[in-house]
Amino acid sequence: MAVTVVEHPLAQHLLTSLRDRDTPPPVFRNLAKRLTLVLVVEAARSLPTEDVSVRTPLEVAPGRRIARDLVAVPILRAGLGMLEAVAELLPEMSVGYVGLERDDATLEPASYYEKLPPLEGRQVLLLDPMLATGGSAVRACSSISRRNPARILFVCVVAAPEGVARMEREHPDVPIFTAAIDRELNASGYILPGLGDFGDRLFGTEPHAGIRAGASSEDEPV
Ligand code: URA
Repeated sequence: MAVTVVEHPLAQHLLTSLRDRDTPPPVFRNLAKRLTLVLVVEAARSLPTEDVSVRTPLEVAPGRRIARDLVAVPILRAGLGMLEAVAELLPEMSVGYVGLERDDATLEPASYYEKLPPLEGRQVLLLDPMLATGGSAVRACSSISRRNPARILFVCVVAAPEGVARMEREHPDVPIFTAAIDRELNASGYILPGLGDFGDRLFGTEPHAGIRAGASSEDEPV
């Protein structure tokens, strides 16, 4: 499986500000969007194109267009922070949604919402900013794969080695695009050094006590 760490200075600049605990939600949202633009440009390198010709004001020129068979699938809720960037870059895409929450009995993600357009033969950009244990990404990839897409590309902001290894084991055919592979997960499943709870920081729902003081099990990401 291919893992691409996008080392572009712009990606690293934006990631550094996202990590900063003092970045407030409105700025966090803007940074997340801008970083996703950079990540998706990198992921889009491998999208299939078709040869076309176009009339310039002077003559006919050969060109290439990205085929209109693209589906973006954010994993709720944090993946929503990446959707606007994809919609701006590739406005012809379709959008599907996968909602996952932790099943307290199995500790594995369970689906609470799934709304997907037909995926057969299409390119799927799966969006989830934090690849932590890999549970959500693997679950979403399994669900999408059953619908026979041409390919799934997974785009995240930060990955943990544990999540990358799990994806490698369970979905070796899914390439991963990320701005960083961090050191490890803590006991609550947060990525270290990470950037905290992406969804909470995006939507301004960070608890006042904050995960910096130690997360409760209810706060654990899936
Ligand atoms: N999800 C998050 O939002 N942050 C982490 O560190 C891990 C999973």
